[in-house]
Amino acid sequence: MGLVRLHVLHHAAESPISGLGVIEELGRHGYRLGPGTIYPLLHSMVKRGWLRTEVQIVARRKRRIYAASSAGRRAPNLAREQVRQLYEEMFEEHQ
Ligand SMILES: [Zn+2]
Repeated sequence: MGLVRLHVLHHAAESPISGLGVIEELGRHGYRLGPGTIYPLLHSMVKRGWLRTEVQIVARRKRRIYAASSAGRRAPNLAREQVRQLYEEMFEEHQ
């Protein structure tokens, strides 16, 4: 699993998030990804069963939101371990 997917799952597991919210959140971390990248990515994660999606009406506007499914909550475990190992290699073994 790529870091971007892992990141999206992390936030979608904390609270449901819109596509725009994902773009803004990743932007805060320095990822410059636009709707043409994010929406296909979200769609592929829905197809894999990692995200659930629904349309909500907020202030009379339709808003599609994404939330981590139970499979999506389990999926990051392997990736989390890989990230931890990479982090240790990069930052801890060279001190
Ligand atoms: Zn984040």
